[in-house]
Amino acid sequence: IPPVITIDGPSGSGKGTIAHRLALKLGFHVLDSGALYRLLALAAQQHGVQTDNEKGLEVLAAYLDVQFEDNNGEAMLILEGEDVTQTIRTEEVGAAASRIAALPGVRAALLQRQHAFRELPGLVADGRDMGTVVFPDACLKIFLTASAEARAERRYKQLLQKGFDANLAAILEDIRARDLRDTQRAVAPMKPAADAIVLDSTALGIEAVLQAVIASACK
Ligand code: C5P
Repeated sequence: IPPVITIDGPSGSGKGTIAHRLALKLGFHVLDSGALYRLLALAAQQHGVQTDNEKGLEVLAAYLDVQFEDNNGEAMLILEGEDVTQTIRTEEVGAAASRIAALPGVRAALLQRQHAFRELPGLVADGRDMGTVVFPDACLKIFLTASAEARAERRYKQLLQKGFDANLAAILEDIRARDLRDTQRAVAPMKPAADAIVLDSTALGIEAVLQAVIASACK
């Protein structure tokens, strides 16, 4: 069975960056599971399925036509033939993704798709429940946190860089609301697995975190 390294934690903790750089270093595949929830949220919006329509979302998830393509080392996300790489990164889609992610039927419908990323030589899986639910047998589990303020600031800079309008106070509020939903939901709440290594990137910084993760990586 191909080895899996899981990196869980809240938005803006730097787990996406760590996951991609670690995968590059090891030559592993990457699963950005948050992108799957974002893609489903966007598809729901485009097809007029409400974020509380669990059955409708389950059907949509089962037939979701998505492709993860590699664009010179950057992930390119295609939804029903359309490049939505940028579109799914907005706060609006993120908030909708976090709402639909609380529905057990949606999580179950996306489980198979996530397991399918587990291929040789190995996988780095990034999300909220990678170590607790999706890949409980992972050989290394990291839980990456950072203060809400630090994460809001990172997200703010990212959005400006990508040419989006951004408001720091609104982002911080949104991050707090999303943290609350992600940690309080009944199914697969965000939390470190019992056997996870917990790292805080507020103090450490991304480079130090990457070095720590590489040092303990299984191959
Ligand atoms: O990581 P990202 O911000 O892209 O994820 C978007 C939303 O999808 C999160 O706020 C979370 O609610 C949900 N999610 C999840 N489980 C995962 C990954 C993401 O519930 N494994």
